[in-house]
Amino acid sequence: MLVGLLHDCDLDKRDLSGIGIGIPGLVDSAKGRIIHTVNMNLSGAELRKPLEKTYKVKVTLGNDVNLGILGEQWLGAARKARNVAGLFIGTGIGGGVIVNNGLLTGAHGAASELGHMIIQADGPKCSCGNSGCLEALASRWAMERDIRQAITKGRKTIVTKLLERKSDTIKSKILRKALQKDDPLVTEILTAAARWLGIACISLRHIYDPEIIVLGGGVIEACGDFMLPIIRKTAQRDRLFEGVDDCGICSSQLGDDAVILGGVALAKGVRSQSRLNSK
Ligand SMILES: [Zn+2]
Repeated sequence: MLVGLLHDCDLDKRDLSGIGIGIPGLVDSAKGRIIHTVNMNLSGAELRKPLEKTYKVKVTLGNDVNLGILGEQWLGAARKARNVAGLFIGTGIGGGVIVNNGLLTGAHGAASELGHMIIQADGPKCSCGNSGCLEALASRWAMERDIRQAITKGRKTIVTKLLERKSDTIKSKILRKALQKDDPLVTEILTAAARWLGIACISLRHIYDPEIIVLGGGVIEACGDFMLPIIRKTAQRDRLFEGVDDCGICSSQLGDDAVILGGVALAKGVRSQSRLNSK
């Protein structure tokens, strides 16, 4: 795969000065191996040693969303911030946190699974097996679940006309089109999801006290104009931090490039993992 990538970029392996890899799963960065991936069959794979042997450069790897936050802190929406929390809302919800200028990785490389913080006791079942996670309330798949349930109960929505086939995935751009047409059902469901995200932002603030919370991912790219004001308004209801300087909640500036640039930041050593309390 790397050979193909180099070829596509018209590069030779001698042009490489380092390799940074973002993995959609749990990663042991210190040992350079993947612990667990849900959506890809890569659990247990050793990456660093074989790649370093082949390419003769330093190989670094991290969780993809964590790298996305690193990218945003290096060149995007969170430049100058030393404490950053990020939520990437797409099909699922990923997260990343930077504390005192170091990426929080935890004891097992599993920190910042922010999409799986449980915020509604006895809430809907989540993809992870638990119930009431943020992802089960505010991700694209959760919105699709709610839209389909409402259609089954007889609610009318423009979504049925926007889908070519009934079974097609309700993608973020379909949600955007429905919002633009003031579709009552989609407006209702995205408003509810945005409120849950606002509540999650309150908790992120209480736990990490970030200067900025960055929201990214396909849902925010497509529907952020509608959702961000609701998320901010909900987060502003926090009473605990009254009197503390406001925490900004903004959308990602780097979009799909955030993870790639975070991988570059890690490989170049301009940003590192677990550098807690560094200056
Ligand atoms: Zn979950």
